[in-house]
Amino acid sequence: MRATLMYSAGDVRVESVPDSVIRQPTDALVRVTASCVCGSDLHPYGSMKPEDGPARRMGHEFIGIVEDTGSEVTTVKRGDLVVAPFAISDGTCEFCREGLHTSCAHPQANFWDGEPDEGGQAEAVRVPLADGTLVKLPVAPDSALIPSLLTLSDVFGTGYHAALMGGVSARTRVTVIGDGAVGLLAVLSARRLGAEQIILMGRHRERTDLGREFGATDVVAARGEEGIERVRELTGGHGTHVVLEAVGHMPAYEQAIGVVRPGGVISRVGVPQYEQAPVDFGTLFGPNIRLAGGPAPVRAYIEELMPDILDGTIDPGKVFDATTGLDGVPAAYQDMADRRSLKVLIKP
Ligand SMILES: [Zn+2]
Ligand SMILES: [Zn+2]
Repeated sequence: MRATLMYSAGDVRVESVPDSVIRQPTDALVRVTASCVCGSDLHPYGSMKPEDGPARRMGHEFIGIVEDTGSEVTTVKRGDLVVAPFAISDGTCEFCREGLHTSCAHPQANFWDGEPDEGGQAEAVRVPLADGTLVKLPVAPDSALIPSLLTLSDVFGTGYHAALMGGVSARTRVTVIGDGAVGLLAVLSARRLGAEQIILMGRHRERTDLGREFGATDVVAARGEEGIERVRELTGGHGTHVVLEAVGHMPAYEQAIGVVRPGGVISRVGVPQYEQAPVDFGTLFGPNIRLAGGPAPVRAYIEELMPDILDGTIDPGKVFDATTGLDGVPAAYQDMADRRSLKVLIKP
């Protein structure tokens, strides 16, 4: 079968690899029908060095048809269309029961990118802990809803997690930093939770227009001090109660500090590309600012968010602006890195 491998920064290849097969009684084998490239895939695409290790199988967001199951799998069966969240989890441990599937205590729990031999940007995937990880979809593999349902594997659930961890409610004003797929779906999530004002900080007109469609009340294209000043003007000088940071780079974090209101929350879902504490924690202490967020346990939100997609209330799949086959995956990475594409859907 064919699969996507990343060798180093800028070097993504689609190659023949050994067929994925069932190895554990709790595994399912899934034939991938829809997958995509994630903004977080662009981090190693920009920085991975050859000495960082062997080539990595890529892709952690996918929908597919169950082709085979191990003897202990009970919740999905051959022929089911399923979506996989970006973290593998058992669904039964203490953390999963609390809705924090990304901290699952099972020894086989993992992120796809941590599994050296599997990935969703491929023809097929072995899914460990299938009962806990996979969710059956009540549509056909060629349904027009597939792009929106695919966002449940990561970007929509991640935007929603940011908003939940930030405590967004009808009484809150929100700033969303980043006009990538997660930022735009953080806007949609903030609107879903009733936010009074949603300020989207982003510079790409097509993306911020989609952000307005998703519910942004204001758009701020300026960055740095000028951007902070603009958000303050829009909020009576105070900043917003909640800041959803969906980028992960230091300037975005500094922007968040600049626009959060005293007593407010900065909720981060962009994977931090900085190692040191980016600000002296005294900066947060004085104004009673809280830091929240982390990798989203999207598995916890799939059943909650799916009905609004199925009945057409929301269309998060609008974040996909290009589609390709497996052969086009290396170009899809480059297009997303160059910001020619917002998010590319892959049909293996
Ligand atoms: Zn992702
Ligand atoms: Zn668990």
